[in-house]
Amino acid sequence: MQTDPARVRRTDPGDPDKCPVWDLHQLYSNADTQAWVQQGCRSAGIGCLECKAPLIEKIVEEVSAISKRAQEFEENPELVRGIIAEGCERARGAARDTLDAVRQAMAMDYR
Ligand code: SF4
Repeated sequence: MQTDPARVRRTDPGDPDKCPVWDLHQLYSNADTQAWVQQGCRSAGIGCLECKAPLIEKIVEEVSAISKRAQEFEENPELVRGIIAEGCERARGAARDTLDAVRQAMAMDYR
């Protein structure tokens, strides 16, 4: 991920407001971590890789719940087929009702 473009070297101070990593810290990090980023970035006290580490941890944690759920479906194709079949049946019923309403509105007697 691109960071503050002005921060070319590890020793260059950065500006979190010009960095998309900061946007993610605002979503995922607590106040202490955000303060650490603000101070560390502006003083070149931390590097960009170091800055991203706590985010990676949080995002992996969040995604792991989704991955776990996806794995359940991968391991049970019959469950997936059942969900699809149930959805198809519901959609078929809704389509039938809609077509009946359209035919009635157009005074089409198709029976
Ligand atoms: S230290 Fe963090 S906020 Fe600062 S430029 Fe690097 S990634 Fe962005």
